[in-house]
Amino acid sequence: MKLILLGAPGAGKGTVAKQLTQLDGSVQISTGDILRGAVQAGTELGKQAEAYMKAGDLVPDELIMGIMEKRLQEPDCARGFLLDGFPRTIPQAEQLTELLNKLGIKLDMAVNIDVPRDVILDRLTTRRTCSNAACQAIYNVKSNPPKQEGICDKCGSPVVQREDETEEAISHRLETYNEKTAPLIGFYDKAGLLVTVNATSSEAVIDAIKAKLNR
Ligand code: AMP
Repeated sequence: MKLILLGAPGAGKGTVAKQLTQLDGSVQISTGDILRGAVQAGTELGKQAEAYMKAGDLVPDELIMGIMEKRLQEPDCARGFLLDGFPRTIPQAEQLTELLNKLGIKLDMAVNIDVPRDVILDRLTTRRTCSNAACQAIYNVKSNPPKQEGICDKCGSPVVQREDETEEAISHRLETYNEKTAPLIGFYDKAGLLVTVNATSSEAVIDAIKAKLNR
């Protein structure tokens, strides 16, 4: 399947994407994970992105498009992909349309995961993430804690609160979402690709996606 996952930070895009990869071998492509990996590795990309990310601002479109142009041409994308956290602005969406046309790739749909703001705020403040850049498993101190406190079940690395998940950065990220990313809902609606799912559980979102894909 070839999907875009839209939704505010904390809507569950990452969790849904990880579960969808199990269905047909499609790969999850999370620009946030790629950028955090680059920051941790201290690469040139990481150095350019770090300050924006820490403040809860978007990284410039040119950097993101550079990453995605390469990533979408890697062989593992042939089986399908789940775009998680990309596109995030109208210019990114327009450039993605051009890129996919150039590569002869057709999207199945853009899924807007619509979750109430109070749920989002609660999730983001209680979310914890594996600090290992190659893992980045997601936990929640209330609803899905690691078996051993502070240690990732999957790889044994420390599980931490992301630097951009302080209350201040979260509220800035949500403002940025409303201003820059929410307009993509209209963009994909016009393109005839939009499916909106109002659901707070990842299982319900996945069932809705499967029903739309007729699987
Ligand atoms: P995420 O893990 O998707 O919440 O992304 C974390 C941070 O990475 C965001 O707050 C942005 O600073 C940056 N980022 C991730 N994806 C994008 C994107 N498509 N465009 C611009 N910045 C991004």
